[in-house]
Amino acid sequence: MLVNQAIHLENIRVDPVHFLQKFHTTVEVLRLDLVHPVISGNKLFKLKEYLKEAKFLGKETIVTFGGAYSNHIVATAAAAKEMGFKTIGIIRGEKPTVLSPTLMDASSYEMELHFITREQYRKKLIPSSVYEQHELNKTYVINEGGYGALGAIGAKDILHCIDSGSYTHIIDVVGTGTTIAGLLEASSPNQLVIGISSMKNNYSLQGEIENLVSDENKKRLLLFHDYHFGGYAKYTNRLIEFMNEWYRLASIPSDFVYTGKLFFAVNDLIEKNYFPPSSKILAIHSGGLQGNQSLPKGTLIF
Ligand SMILES: *Cc1c(COP(=O)(O)O)cnc(C)c1O
Repeated sequence: MLVNQAIHLENIRVDPVHFLQKFHTTVEVLRLDLVHPVISGNKLFKLKEYLKEAKFLGKETIVTFGGAYSNHIVATAAAAKEMGFKTIGIIRGEKPTVLSPTLMDASSYEMELHFITREQYRKKLIPSSVYEQHELNKTYVINEGGYGALGAIGAKDILHCIDSGSYTHIIDVVGTGTTIAGLLEASSPNQLVIGISSMKNNYSLQGEIENLVSDENKKRLLLFHDYHFGGYAKYTNRLIEFMNEWYRLASIPSDFVYTGKLFFAVNDLIEKNYFPPSSKILAIHSGGLQGNQSLPKGTLIF
């Protein structure tokens, strides 16, 4: 099984995208996806400070929230287990008769799964059955998607993996905004940080990111809301065709929830001459390839 592979931070590297050079810009991709086939790169960075704090506080069990295909759920299961914690995943919706590949992977890391209704999930209610089996004062709760200040602090280290000082633009795809908050905090005052929202009409995102960054750094943030392809985890044939074409031309795999939309946006903005000549763009491949397991077989060529 893929999940039993080790985590390899030393695999992180930067890949140039040669076919985009004709537009007089340089595009390079930071390959956080190479760390592990299941545990996405940005999730590990977001989780590490929470897990350190939980250890420091003497907690034994990590509780967190997510949907049936959540990269955050499976990454939490794996990373917390590695540090000796028990894990509980509070999953949105009825328990299905067949678990999704993501939840099967989480179970293989011994995460205990509790399913709650969408209504309860909206309120982030922890079911009482959890506390019948676990001591309340030994549990540590991590927000859905790892949103929060400690997550952003962990995400700063993404830019410390490489020498990132020469890029004019850093671009990534945004869910909760925690990762991009870290990128803003770790980047330098002459760099612009661009976020592609993976959701439709999620206009509260700006404020949620601003809550996690200093006033100075807020000014360098720019969000695009028009590359969602119908909404979170939605896709169209055009997106799938693009992902296959991107793989043919750049040899970089992507996922349909996040990074496919990111690379589509990068390509589209470049074709529209959005970036000034001689721009040097760093696109963050935040992982998430495990999510493609939910697509019909043969959809993608990689
Ligand atoms: C979770 C995730 C994101 C979103 O990260 P946020 O910090 O929530 O904005 C982006 N890309 C991938 C692959 C993810 O799994």
